[in-house]
Order: sequence, then structure tokens, then C-alpha cells
Amino acid sequence: MAESTGFYHDERCLWHSTGEAVLFLPVGGWLQPLAGGGHPESPESKRRLKSLLDVSGLTGKLAVSTADPALLEDLLRVHTARYVDRFRELSAGRGGEIGPEALFSHGGFEIAALSAGLAKRAVADVLDGTRTNAYALSRPPGHHCLSDSGMGFCLLANIPVAIEAAKASHGLGKVAVIDWDVHHGNGTQDIYYERDDVLTISLHQENCFPTDTGAVTERGAGPGLGLNVNVPLPPGSGHDTYLHAMRTIVIPALQTFGPDLIVVASGLDANAVDPLARQLLHAGSFREMTRLVMEVADEVCGGRLVVVHEGGYAESAVPFCGLAIIETLSGERTEVVDPFEETFIAQQPTARVVDYQIAIVDDIAATLKGQP
Ligand code: ZN
Repeated sequence: MAESTGFYHDERCLWHSTGEAVLFLPVGGWLQPLAGGGHPESPESKRRLKSLLDVSGLTGKLAVSTADPALLEDLLRVHTARYVDRFRELSAGRGGEIGPEALFSHGGFEIAALSAGLAKRAVADVLDGTRTNAYALSRPPGHHCLSDSGMGFCLLANIPVAIEAAKASHGLGKVAVIDWDVHHGNGTQDIYYERDDVLTISLHQENCFPTDTGAVTERGAGPGLGLNVNVPLPPGSGHDTYLHAMRTIVIPALQTFGPDLIVVASGLDANAVDPLARQLLHAGSFREMTRLVMEVADEVCGGRLVVVHEGGYAESAVPFCGLAIIETLSGERTEVVDPFEETFIAQQPTARVVDYQIAIVDDIAATLKGQP
């Protein structure tokens, strides 16, 4: 009988290096190098989340472990041999770029395989019943990664690698992936676009990244038609709009699909101060979204839920958003009070703006109903 929330992390994942940048652009031209490196996909937000878990006492209430790296055969279920070979080759040298904005240093392949391995073990432990639910602090992230190219800081498709490994080893059936990273989960969408056994849902800021994917009309194809759901939200969407989208689109889609496992691609970059997006969530929003997903997981799949860390670049806010999710998963409430929450709540859009955003969500829901 499972009795605990698994927390999977490894210090080596924090040693992944993306080199120098200013926001998402390379240093040069008019862009002065930033002190301390400056690439947004730095270890700091993740390390500060782990530190907050430690000082709050929550780490001691979780089943904490690392994992073995994903095996070559795990990667090859999702990625082309050509992609994996090229990644390994560059990684054995000085590193490089394996797709748009997918940079890494020497040894980056092994760290990416470990990041995918954390997600793989989290899924396996939940399916075994060793853990009630789980959080994998994977880094580098995975949800933009395609089968044959890295993209947007993502070097391996962590969640599909974990799902496909569990399908091979545990006979896992239907899976739903909910991606609430502020950017479109284009990689996961692409990998599962024609599959009828994996429902993919992405809530994201419209036209943020990538700018040419994530439309409502991208619904899947062939046997997967109707099983890809995009909810592109306008910039400035806050707590009420996200929760409305969860209640009117995401939760009903999960109930209809009836997965055997739910995986959340949990970017924490829809928070109010993320440098790479313009949404207005706070820790309480992530707490409530997690609660809603746990409720439906209890209803449809015996509570089997795995949360895998994706983006999130505000070193200030990410720890509190992550803590709120892990507190909810574990049913433990620490003494931590998010010092930003009051301000971020006061800065939510006014009622008129929320009404406008909710009307957009209702339009999306109506469009999805009118399509296969
Ligand atoms: Zn993101």
C-alpha cells in the first residue's frame, strides 16, 4: 500500500549548463553579457525550490530519491537514432546546440538522460504502487523537445520517455498529459499527435513560444483526432481565468478520456514575475490546479498522478509555486507563507478583464465541442 509522495531529484541535473545568454538570446551585438551567466534556464530556480522544501521540513515528509538515467532503449522509443547519436557525439566534445535554443555543455547528454530518468522512475513507482503520487524535479526540461530535435531549452522528451518506458515495462494503458507550463507543449503534442492512447492538453499563453503552434484547431490526426487539446490564453490571464479553463475544459476532458495515469508537465512560468511570459498566477493558483487534478485522478485512475517539472525562470517565485504543488500532493502543509501571494493576488486583473478572458475560454470550449 502506497503511503507517500515521491520526490525525485539529483544534484547533477543542476549542473547542466546552458551557457551565456540574455533572456533567450545569445550575448553579442547590443546585448551586454549579464553578471553570473544570465541564461534564464539556470539551476537557481530549481535549487531554491529544493532549498525551500528542506528548510520548511517538507523534504523529510517525502520519499526522496534519485534515479538511474533513462536507458538508450528508453530514448529510442521516442527519439530517432540519428538525433540521439548526434546529441551524444556533441556531448562527448564541448557540447553545442541540438536544435533552436537547445544548448548544452560537455556531458549534457548524460544529464539529460538522468533528467528523463527521474520522470521515468516517478512514473514506475506510482504504477507499482510504491508511491501514492510523485514529483520529479527534472532538469533540463522536456516538453518542447521533438523526436528528432531539441528545442526551447529541452533536450530529451522526458515525459514521453517515461510514459513509453512504462508502457513497455508495466503495460500502461491510457495516459493524459496536462501541460500548464506557460509555453505551448509542442513537443509532447507532436510526439502523440496521431496516438489514441495518450491525451495531450496544453494551457499556454497564446503565441508566446513557439509562436506558430498551440492553436485550438490543432486537434490531433488519424487515430489521435480529438485527443490533442490546446487552450491558448491571452497574456495577462490570472488565477480566475486559469481555474475556469481547468474546470470547463481540462477536467471534463480527463473525465471523458478516463486515463490510467495522469502526468502534469508542470512549468511554473505562468507566475506573475516570470521573465519569459506575461501571465499572473501565484502559488495559490498552482495549489488549486493541483487539487483539481488530484480530485479527478482519484475519480478516474486511483489517484495515480505524476508531476514533472518543466520551465519556470523567476528565481523569486518558483520555489513557492513548487512548494504549493508538493504540499498539495503530499497532504502536508508547512509553516511557509508565500510572501508574494498577497501582492500577486492584489494585482490580479479587474473583473471586466477577467470577464473578457473567461469569454475567450468559453469560446475555446465551444470550438472544441464543435470539433471532433
Ligand atoms: Zn515554459
